[in-house]
Amino acid sequence: MDFSVVINEAFREIFQSMSEGIIIVEDSGEIVLANPVAESMFGYKKTELNGMPLEKLLPERYRGRHVFLRREFANNPQPRRMGVGRDLTALRKTGEEFPIEISLSYTQITGKLLVMAFISDITTRKKVEDALRQSEEQLIVYAAELEEKVQDRTKALNKTIIRLEEEVKERKKAEEDVRRSLDRERELNELKTKFVSIASHEFRTPLSAVMSSASLVKKYKENGELSKVDKHVERIKSAVHHLTQILNDFLSLGKLEEGRVDIQSENIDLDAFMSDVQEDVKAVLKEGQEFVVIFNGNAANLDSDPRILRNIMFNLISNASKYSGPHKKITLYCSGLGDQIIFKVEDEGIGIPPEDQKHLFERFFRASNSGNIEGTGLGLNIVKRYTELLNGGITFNSEYGKGSTFIVSIPLAVK
Ligand code: ADP
Repeated sequence: MDFSVVINEAFREIFQSMSEGIIIVEDSGEIVLANPVAESMFGYKKTELNGMPLEKLLPERYRGRHVFLRREFANNPQPRRMGVGRDLTALRKTGEEFPIEISLSYTQITGKLLVMAFISDITTRKKVEDALRQSEEQLIVYAAELEEKVQDRTKALNKTIIRLEEEVKERKKAEEDVRRSLDRERELNELKTKFVSIASHEFRTPLSAVMSSASLVKKYKENGELSKVDKHVERIKSAVHHLTQILNDFLSLGKLEEGRVDIQSENIDLDAFMSDVQEDVKAVLKEGQEFVVIFNGNAANLDSDPRILRNIMFNLISNASKYSGPHKKITLYCSGLGDQIIFKVEDEGIGIPPEDQKHLFERFFRASNSGNIEGTGLGLNIVKRYTELLNGGITFNSEYGKGSTFIVSIPLAVK
């Protein structure tokens, strides 16, 4: 049958001029008609496709399956797109494969099913798509590389920041060190200035006492008044003792300031230690002052530095004596308390005004009621620092006009 006869002019026009390839296939799978686009798409000459089995336009590997699909379509024909979701491949006469897209339709002519395939060569589109996908993939790779670079840079930057922060810290520390040593130097200078002024002031009284007593001793000796000589010898001894005390305080402070005081710990026999302290104290007690030691003996095993401890005790007891009148009692208590030993020096002296108490351990501080009692305001500062060197602590309580108690607590074993 010559089907071209039944195609009217309009259809022919469309058929010929469509930009898609059109192939009409009959039931048996034979091509009955192909438009010029289809012919050139597959590389055949005019009318060469007519009468050819459709499967010749497919790569061999798809042909068997295609026959099956074609039959299925014939049983239930519906216009639709072919191969949705997968790529379709066609075969040119030259044997070259190329990607296509197909829409299917059908018609019945004189009882015969004719299937129409509208075919587009999507080689160019595929190429563009592939190129796009490739550049997308490349973009992803670039993005990943970029991300990695950013991370690397961030890491490097963080390292630089940390290094800079460390440098700043080090510089600050160095500045701090310089400032501290400058402060220290200033403090030492102040100390020296203070020493000169205190020494010139404090030394004047005992020195003039020595001078006048020495002249008097000479005079009494010449006059034969020997009974009066002893009194002035005692005055000279006391003045020299006072001078020695001031010098000792300055020496101790100097050593403390320079960090030159080393702890030499040893086992201390407390009975012997107390006797030594009692002996030291005799030289400073005023007329009629009573010094009592109450030692409960339960702290027999003490490891500490006896020289420093003796200095602490001597300072506190000297003060108790100095700031009490004649005939007053001074008591030294000593007892163990857990891993500590407690020394208490109690007096019945002038006490410390409440408003002065918070400054008591400051260097050069003297309470407002110290009047013309000789002193430099250094002793308690030294005592506190010595106590701390023995890992201990010092407190006091005092009632103005009634008396004071200084309490030193140190560990049984200094570290
Ligand atoms: P100094 O006795 O040389 O002045 P200290 O540092 O030993 O120096 O004492 C500081 C001040 O504390 C003294 O000037 C005094 O006012 C007061 N003080 C110390 N011990 C006693 C005490 N036992 N009773 C009353 N006041 C005291």
